[in-house]
Amino acid sequence: MSDLRELYQEIILDHNRSPRNFGVPEQSNRTAKGYNPLCGDIVTVYLLLKGNVVRDIRFEGRGCAISIASASIMTELIVGKTEIEARRLFQFFHDFVTGEETVEFSEELEELTALSGVRDFPMRVKCATLAWHSMAAALDGDGATVATE
Ligand code: ZN
Repeated sequence: MSDLRELYQEIILDHNRSPRNFGVPEQSNRTAKGYNPLCGDIVTVYLLLKGNVVRDIRFEGRGCAISIASASIMTELIVGKTEIEARRLFQFFHDFVTGEETVEFSEELEELTALSGVRDFPMRVKCATLAWHSMAAALDGDGATVATE
């Protein structure tokens, strides 16, 4: 195992062990659920959207380490972003894990590279993008449920 791989593994395990922004917030005005039947991952994303800015984002759910780590990293990146920026980030991440594009990572987004291992495993891509699909669905409107299949 290369050093880089070990580092990636460590980042994923750390987020899985202690997910950031985990739990139901006191205040939210957009929410969406996501379900990945292939793996059994379930996630609910809560947003507090004020004037097109994501003031707070939290999630709860259960699933594999990839799905939880990706959700955790996502919440850290999305908080404080505008709706447009959040959607752009989702597109960026999606392009990255589906390998359709070579993408450049700014320092802020570096942790996302920890999820690069899923690129070789299409089923794992669904784990990694589940929370992101849910976040986008929450932006689209309240109360949606998205499935990866
Ligand atoms: Zn999974």
